[in-house]
Amino acid sequence: MKVTILGVRGSIPTDGPECCEFGGATSCILVEAGGQAIYLDAGSGLLRAPDTGAADVSILISHSHMDHILGLPLSPILLSKKRLDLYMAKRDGLSAEEQLACLMAPPLWPVGVERYPAEVIFHDLELPLQIGDVAVRGMESNHPGGSTIFRLDHNGRSLVYATDYEHSEEKNRELIAFAHDTDLLLYDAQYTDEEYARMKGFGHSTIAEGMKVFERSGAKRVLFVHHDPRHPDVKLREMEAALKGKNAALARAGEVIEL
Ligand SMILES: [Zn+2]
Ligand SMILES: [Zn+2]
Repeated sequence: MKVTILGVRGSIPTDGPECCEFGGATSCILVEAGGQAIYLDAGSGLLRAPDTGAADVSILISHSHMDHILGLPLSPILLSKKRLDLYMAKRDGLSAEEQLACLMAPPLWPVGVERYPAEVIFHDLELPLQIGDVAVRGMESNHPGGSTIFRLDHNGRSLVYATDYEHSEEKNRELIAFAHDTDLLLYDAQYTDEEYARMKGFGHSTIAEGMKVFERSGAKRVLFVHHDPRHPDVKLREMEAALKGKNAALARAGEVIEL
């Protein structure tokens, strides 16, 4: 299983010399396994989608908040002639296709998905599901409007993608069991403890809470994602300093991890 971090910024993209180490593109992770190229979220990191050759291409979207879909309109995937299977849970009575049409239709965007070269097949997410030999499971996150946490398993290797997640005792218990023994946990740590005290209910978590889940789940490694757009590299490095030697770090765009 090969994991490529394409975007780990939360809420809205950012740019500038002060954020080039961790990257300013929003949520997008590529997982390659068993002839499948599976993107987790379609934030602006999707603009850097690499050529995955003959692999079947799918996108699993956690939820349709803007930062998780805004890479689609100019993504190399939609601009190619490939087939794309796009999965997203129904929310607010809207199908995956209807949710995307909120962004990709006039007046917000000049054309709909149907005008692109790619053949897009929409799926209202139902879990568990199989994408080729990759098993996909999910659990509902704790996030305003809802969000899906994914677990991908292939050939004895696995990853859990828990973004847009706010901890609670009950949800942590569920997530600890869901992430049991996984090789890689990606966990939302948008806020410092201080910020979280002011941002309760916004649907995001902290490194301290993520470390609890990580240590209790038996996961082998944790990478923190959904970095706050107001945190420059220097701040993120400061937040990361205490994690040395704990198989824990803040994810950086461009990072490639072989599991
Ligand atoms: Zn988000
Ligand atoms: Zn969200």
